Amino acid sequence: MKRLNFTLDDETVQLLDRLAKKYYKGNKSQTVRAALESLAAHQGHDGWVITGYTPTRAAHDVNCHSCGSEQDEGNVLFKPVFERGTSPAAIQSIPSEEWVECPSCLETK
Ligand SMILES: [Zn+2]
Repeated sequence: MKRLNFTLDDETVQLLDRLAKKYYKGNKSQTVRAALESLAAHQGHDGWVITGYTPTRAAHDVNCHSCGSEQDEGNVLFKPVFERGTSPAAIQSIPSEEWVECPSCLETK
């Protein structure tokens, strides 16, 4: 445990008081902790994060996931590599449809 010292404006202090009384029997430390946990849960989604791309050749005509451009069979495209992680960009489940990016979209990532 550590004692932290920080400054809040009056409105925030009132809000903290109100929330603490309503939900945590007046315990402000618990209230701040719950608020931070809630913030973390919303900011950094636990899920699948794209950590890189691997080249692939289109086995059939397919559209780029980002720009929607039509890609002919045989074009070199890039498939995302997913890993478990935490990020605001994390997605909850790996999409079941084919996901490929064209080279020009990849360059802007
Ligand atoms: Zn594209």
